[in-house]
Amino acid sequence: MAHVMFTRGCPFNCNFCSSGNRYVQFRCPKNIRNELIFLKEKYKIEGFAIVDDNAIINKKKTMEYCALIEDLNLKWSALSRVDTVNREILESMSTSGCIEIKYGIESGSQKILDMMNKKISLDQIKHTVRLTKHFGIKVKAFIIHGFPGEDLETTQETIQLLKEIHQFIDRITVFRFVPLPGSPVYENYREFNIHGTHYHKEWDGNWNRFRIYNNDTHWWGSHDDYLNVKKSYNLLISYVKSIFPDEI
Ligand code: SF4
Repeated sequence: MAHVMFTRGCPFNCNFCSSGNRYVQFRCPKNIRNELIFLKEKYKIEGFAIVDDNAIINKKKTMEYCALIEDLNLKWSALSRVDTVNREILESMSTSGCIEIKYGIESGSQKILDMMNKKISLDQIKHTVRLTKHFGIKVKAFIIHGFPGEDLETTQETIQLLKEIHQFIDRITVFRFVPLPGSPVYENYREFNIHGTHYHKEWDGNWNRFRIYNNDTHWWGSHDDYLNVKKSYNLLISYVKSIFPDEI
């Protein structure tokens, strides 16, 4: 398989994300088709992953891509929000070979989703994962734990959501919240109660501090907040491990 990009940029503005609020550039569907034919002929690919931060933004464009690649018989996957797909788009994606969508679910707490400026609801999450499975497409869930304001209660809400929808989820990744440079939380760290000591106006080039896997830095709030996040993260992980033993 190969990694490809269909678009660049994302018009949304999630507070934890450094890719948002960007002008979106779409590749022309014919150009994409030619690239896939090239990859198929030269490298014998059987499938591809669209690695765009948010591939399913525009209904018309998505339907065009799907129609143009359908006869290539390639299996593919993409990342998406839960609120930009619908029945028609999912059907067309499935027909054109889409086998998995990675959804930014992020949290089961409406309070945290709102603080993230994610602009999605729990009902949208539940509806979309069900509908995706209905069209035979696998669901991978992306969760972010530890956004400012996370506590035992909000974590329990995420666990509750996962309990309700886990039969529609095939794979899952739990990331720990990190204030990524370029994201709204990074730029407005005071507003999110993030410790200024982690920031240097002079960029030191040390990206290692911002790794998103298993990063348990005390980014925000008091020591008690930090301990609370740590404890609730462990709770979430042990629940996730119990339902997806191979995933974590
Ligand atoms: S998390 Fe996804 S939808 Fe939100 S700004 Fe980033 S790329 Fe866009």
